[in-house]
Amino acid sequence: MLKFFNGIFTYIHNLSTGEEVLSDRRKFTYIFWSFALIHVASAVFFVLLGNTKFVVINVLAIFLYFGLLSLAKKKHYLMVSLIAEIEVLVAIALISFSYGSMLGYSLYCFAMIPTIFYITSTVKEMKHPTVYCFVFSFISMLTFFTIIVSEPFFTIPQILTDRPVLTLVIRLFNAAVSFIFTIIFSLLFSWEMKSNNSQLLRRNQQLVEVARKDPLTKLANRRSMMERLNLSMHHLQLDNHPFSVILCDIDHFKKVNDKYGHDCGDKVLVTVANLITSQLRDTDFVCRWGGEEILIVIDGRLQTAAAIAERMRGNIEAEEIMHEGERVAVTMTFGVAQAEKNYRIEDLIQLADTRLYYGKEHGRNQVVSTDKKD
Ligand code: GH3
Ligand code: MG
Ligand code: MG
Repeated sequence: MLKFFNGIFTYIHNLSTGEEVLSDRRKFTYIFWSFALIHVASAVFFVLLGNTKFVVINVLAIFLYFGLLSLAKKKHYLMVSLIAEIEVLVAIALISFSYGSMLGYSLYCFAMIPTIFYITSTVKEMKHPTVYCFVFSFISMLTFFTIIVSEPFFTIPQILTDRPVLTLVIRLFNAAVSFIFTIIFSLLFSWEMKSNNSQLLRRNQQLVEVARKDPLTKLANRRSMMERLNLSMHHLQLDNHPFSVILCDIDHFKKVNDKYGHDCGDKVLVTVANLITSQLRDTDFVCRWGGEEILIVIDGRLQTAAAIAERMRGNIEAEEIMHEGERVAVTMTFGVAQAEKNYRIEDLIQLADTRLYYGKEHGRNQVVSTDKKD
């Protein structure tokens, strides 16, 4: 029992924070069940008031809501919400024009308004939801005013004066239900807005991630690297904070693809990216610069960057990447360069690239961090 209430409490809490969304089917199920229950109560009231015609009308309305429930299951939301709203307004008008506002049914004219706004937020196929809400709210208002304006002109049925306690009970019931409806649907409407908002925020974060990350290796992409390089350059020029870059490239990667297939090539890329990332500190930054080229910003001088590159080279060489029971030998060549205040970012990357090229020309699987002539 405690678990059940705990579950309900968590569900309501999640709804209120926008983490959980009430499904459209559930919404209509709850709404139609509550409408049907009001008609059950009304059928009983009219039995007590001795009005067979209204008992029949209320029983028919109960059947109508069971029909609407199965239509809602088939997602005919526009149709069911229109029928339900018309039904409620017609029922209010019929009862109120026979009994005046003594029984409190006219109060549902108010309760209908937040319900309409809430339902409308669900019905996606609705063309002009705001116009729809205003038209129905206006009709509700008109119904209410017609009831109170016409009241002095008709005689209140004798039964209401004969059964004052019953009349009071019915009025209290309708007033309470109207208030509960107004409160609950206003709450649900604001939660709906909150959940839409948090969904948008989540999508936005995903988009930002897509725009900044390489989908295969999950490394940052060139664009975010350029932002980082500009920032590091700024710090170097302003506060003399040194930084270096490592440009590395997988050796004979084309052969890996040719021999083991593209999927294996992808696996090698991901493994290499993970190995490199695991060697870095929070202040460093790594991106997939091109096909099988990775660019790293090291927060430090040339010697630090060269030492990190050497460690990475050794780890990659030692890594056992297996493909269909066979070990895929992978090595990488690294070009390292330290930024100078007068460098443009392109100059710095060019310098690292020249060193990388030197390493490729001189046996690969090595770290080159100085200019060599031969
Ligand atoms: P080198 O040692 O000189 O770098 O030789 P290499 O074969 O690595 O260099 P090359 O530039 O000739 O070939 C790079 C290959 O990388 C060619 C391309 O098909 C492959 N490649 C680029 N991006 C991807 C990728 O995302 N997945 C896979 N599987 N292969 C890729
Ligand atoms: Mg290569
Ligand atoms: Mg390459």
